[in-house]
Formats: sequence, C-alpha cells, structure tokens
Amino acid sequence: MIDPPSRLVLLGHPVAHSISPRFQNAALAAAGMSIRYETMDVPPNALATTMAMLATEHAAGNATIPHKEALAALCNRLSPLAQRVGAANVFWHEDGALVGDNSDVGGAEMVIRAFLGTTDSADIVLLGAGGSAASVICAAERCGVREVRIVNRNAERAVQLAARFPTIARPVHVLETALSGASLVVNATPIGLHDDSMPMLVELLPRDCSVFDLVYRTNETAWVRAARDAGHHAADGDGMLLEQGAIAFERWFGIAPDRGAMWKAIH
Ligand code: NAP
Repeated sequence: MIDPPSRLVLLGHPVAHSISPRFQNAALAAAGMSIRYETMDVPPNALATTMAMLATEHAAGNATIPHKEALAALCNRLSPLAQRVGAANVFWHEDGALVGDNSDVGGAEMVIRAFLGTTDSADIVLLGAGGSAASVICAAERCGVREVRIVNRNAERAVQLAARFPTIARPVHVLETALSGASLVVNATPIGLHDDSMPMLVELLPRDCSVFDLVYRTNETAWVRAARDAGHHAADGDGMLLEQGAIAFERWFGIAPDRGAMWKAIH
C-alpha cells in the first residue's frame, strides 16, 4: 500500500523555467488531489541537506539538472533502471528509505517506440554523451534497437559511455559515418535550447530517417521544424518530458495520471 507524499517538489538549479509544474498540477487537479507540485532551486552543495529536510516532511518529487547523479548516490534504494543509468530523476520515501527511480528511460522509450514501431533491426545515432544520453541508450535497449552509434564533441566521453553499454552502443568519431543506414537521430545535447542553432545539418540525414530532439521549446526547436520541412518524421522533447512525469506520478501515487489533462496544460 502506497503512503502518499505530503509534499511534491522538483529539485533543480536553475529550475524556475521548468514547465513540469504546469502538467503535474493539471494531473493532480484531474485526480482531485489538493497537494501541489512546486519547484525548489537547490544549489549542488545543498542537495544532501535538502533531501534530509524533505525526508522529515515525507516529500516526494523529481530531480533535474544538475542533481540526477547526486540524487542516485544519496538514495537508500534504487530501481534497476536508475542503477543502469547511474542517475535518478524520481524519488519518494518508503518504510523510512529514500527510493530513487529513472523515468527518463520510460519517457524516451515511449517516443522511440512511436518512431520505430516493432522494427527490430533499427540503428540509432545519438548526439551527446551526458546523463540523458545514457537514458536514451537504456530505452533503446528496451526497444530492441540493434545499435546506438554515439557521436559526441568530447570523443573520449562517447567511448566511456559506450563502454557501459557494450552490447548495443558504439562510439563513432565521424558524424557522416555514423549516419549511414540510421533510422533515427536523437539529439541529447542542449543545442537549440536557447536559440535556433541545430545539432547537425538536416541535409545530412539519410532518407526516411526520423529525428527526436530531447530539447523542447515553444513552437518546437529549429532542428525539428527544419527536419519536418525536409520530409522527415520529427518530434521534440515535450512528449518525453510529459511521459517521464506521468511515470513519476504513478510511482508517487500508485495510479495512472490523466495524460490528456497533462498534455492540454502545456499545449
Ligand atoms: P549533460 O549531461 O550536461 O550532457 C550534455 C551533452 O551535450 C554532452 O555530451 C556535451 O558534450 C554535449 N554538448 C553540450 N554543449 C554542446 C555544444 N555546444 N556542442 C556540442 N555538444 C555539446 O546534459 P543532459 O542531462 O544529458 O541533457 C542534455 C539536454 O537534454 C538538455 O538540454 C536537456 O534539456 C535535455 N533533456 C530533455 C529531457 C526531456 O524529457 N525532454 C530529459 C533530459 C534532458 P561534451 O561531453 O563534449 O561536453
């Protein structure tokens, strides 16, 4: 039996810009719950004391940049997915223990499945080798993707990330080489977050290759718009964000949220 939280927070630094409160509060309202979801700006050196304080309040919530790896290290128990990614973005308290999970994987999995369907031989090109890139590789594993080719600015970091997922991931130095035969290109860098810069030229995309940008902006990112204009299926990161939030809601309350109400709150 789930003991519902008395407080729901999103820990980040900075965090005021987040759209998560909009859809989480819509889900809470749709479920008839009076609790509210609030942002908490927590600098990295204050995370441990903040988590200790939140334990006394029986709080639950999410963590975003830059806290996901540090939160995982603070948890008493981690889900197998959070262990595999090495990061937690969802937490709650259970029997006095701080429990962490990773719902970014489920969010990415939902989008990848929508793009690739039941294909069991698809190859993905992954731009970036940070925390969210690890979630995408985990999601690709769960979708039965054949290979994830990692291209990163810092090539050594791509090598290190691929080594954690040796059965599916491979670092590739030259983007054009990586793109050959790819079914989906995923942007897991922050490029395009603040302006119309693009993580790669749309002209380089193979025919029939889809585009999934983890970055999201009002009216989508320039990369997604350009890819769609060139005839490719393309989606930005708001679908993944919403799905990871819905999975988190299920962990906190043991019931599925109204995903329609959540979607309406941000569109
Ligand atoms: P991270 O751990 O800091 O990793 C960032 C990655 O991007 C690194 O591989 C870094 O390369 C690369 N990078 C950064 N700036 C670059 C530039 N100017 N040119 C080329 N490469 C660059 O970040 P993260 O947590 O993975 O997040 C990445 C993005 O995904 C963020 O913008 C975040 O908003 C988004 N995100 C979205 C969702 C969602 O639900 N939609 C979830 C999580 C994250 P180096 O290794 O060379 O530094």
